[in-house]
Amino acid sequence: MANKLHINTSLIHSDYSAPEDFGALQTGVHHASTVTFHNVAAMRSRSWQDKSAYTYGLHGTPTSFTLEARLAEIEQGKYCLLAPSGLAAIAMVNLALLQSGDDVLLPDNVYNPNRELGDWLSKSFGVSARYYDPLIGAGIAGLIQDNTRLIWTEAPGSVTMEVPDIPAICAVAKAKGILVALDNTWAAGIAFSAFEHGVDIVMQALTKYQSGGSDVLMGAVITRDQALNSRLQDAHMRLGMGVGMDDVYLVLRSLSSLKLRFDAHDQSARKIAAWLQTRPEISKVLHPALAGSPGHELWQRDFSGAAGLFSVLFDPRYTEAQTDRFVDTLKLFKIGFSWGGAHSLCVPYRIKHMRKNWPHEGILVRFNIGLEDADDLIADIARAFAAMAG
Ligand SMILES: *Cc1c(COP(=O)(O)O)cnc(C)c1O
Repeated sequence: MANKLHINTSLIHSDYSAPEDFGALQTGVHHASTVTFHNVAAMRSRSWQDKSAYTYGLHGTPTSFTLEARLAEIEQGKYCLLAPSGLAAIAMVNLALLQSGDDVLLPDNVYNPNRELGDWLSKSFGVSARYYDPLIGAGIAGLIQDNTRLIWTEAPGSVTMEVPDIPAICAVAKAKGILVALDNTWAAGIAFSAFEHGVDIVMQALTKYQSGGSDVLMGAVITRDQALNSRLQDAHMRLGMGVGMDDVYLVLRSLSSLKLRFDAHDQSARKIAAWLQTRPEISKVLHPALAGSPGHELWQRDFSGAAGLFSVLFDPRYTEAQTDRFVDTLKLFKIGFSWGGAHSLCVPYRIKHMRKNWPHEGILVRFNIGLEDADDLIADIARAFAAMAG
């Protein structure tokens, strides 16, 4: 066919078709905006919603369908939608499920941009967003109004690390017909079985452990209920939440080692957190697997592992200038947001500006423990403690 056409046409209409019996272990990277149909009847009969066929790049290619299916499986859910970032996934949930006049409850320790979004919905879109003590448990019943439609949870809060009582919150919500969404990023879908504990909607920032490379932004929303997935799909389509297939491929490529990496981060983080507990510079280590950390008993009851992300509170005798010097002195820990990659990271937070009720004194510093040797990381921290005091 190609040689009867002009070059500018034949360059576009080559005889290429995708290999049919090519047993590579990794999914191909299928890029598309346009997806063609054999005829008009085929075009008209295809539905973008049920994902039994391809319709347009925004609704997915074989590459993104594969990632969605794998994420749903990891999370023990049924449906999955990808979003261009974790935050976009959060926004999709809110915009799908809330309308003017509705009320949403968020934990006071929620991922801060989710709080920004809640405040924006309150100010400009006629939704009321209210904040609750993350350790409230069944007490959430006292906050529920007739117009409450959605309760966000995060387990644990990714800066102050309180573990909430998810089953208790879900039981209250279920009795009142309210949906519960969980930001399950910390557990990466492998250390906490969200649906088994009563959650309706799971959100993941794939940017973290699923990617593991500190180089991709992506999010996912996973559900078990078809009607609920449909509502989310409508928002996904209306907001045009497309993802790049090269990025999808990077996440797929990293998934095989997710559990091994997660366990390695966990092991190092617990070793370092336990060592920090013995240090006079630190007044409290906020790590769900350590006794005394808020919600530790709930973590023990409900979780099967811990991420490499935790925080410490410095003894109040240290000024912010000193703890800044501590962070600046660290060599193996880089200063940067996000987490879940091979590199260890460290960020000081001005927590009193972020929380309504924060009872603690002392500067909070968050560590992301990467895949370096834990003893090298401990030596780095010890050296920075010395520089801070001197
Ligand atoms: C990083 C993160 C998000 C947002 O993910 P992005 O891809 O960076 O937008 C949401 N929730 C938690 C707990 C996170 O750590």
